[in-house]
Amino acid sequence: MTENSEPVPSITGGCQCGAVRYAMHVPRVENAHACHCRMCQKATGGVFAVLAGCSKDRLEWTRGRPSFFASSNVASRGFCPGCGTPLTFAYNQPEARIYVTIGSLDDPEQAAIGRQYGVESKLSWVRFCEDVVQERSGETAEDAAFFASIRSNQDGVGGEST
Ligand SMILES: [Zn+2]
Ligand SMILES: [Zn+2]
Repeated sequence: MTENSEPVPSITGGCQCGAVRYAMHVPRVENAHACHCRMCQKATGGVFAVLAGCSKDRLEWTRGRPSFFASSNVASRGFCPGCGTPLTFAYNQPEARIYVTIGSLDDPEQAAIGRQYGVESKLSWVRFCEDVVQERSGETAEDAAFFASIRSNQDGVGGEST
């Protein structure tokens, strides 16, 4: 069997009520990470988000469709309209990855995180994956300019992160 004839394995998941299901048609997720930024806290209702990505054309909605909230001018977040489970995060550019919430995967073991972002908003009492690389938002000049351009649509949360 040649590599080309092997089917691409799928990584699957869905919301808690089962109305929305997805498949990521990739051999493995990309850039699995945690984000401690204030906007991810607000969007998930948790104290950080854990997200795993693939290119947008590799994500297929296999049952139902999420609703989307434009959490800022540069990104939107998908959630089940029936049960509210947070499902996706993506920047608006077509070439940007779409991320799914690791907790919504059928097998979250497929998405061990390799990086932590937004650690300037990491809560003082959170002890989580302490050995994983941590990065502040806007560390480089390019990143700082990008973060400065973000306008939040979240109630009471500034646009310093996404
Ligand atoms: Zn649901
Ligand atoms: Zn974030």
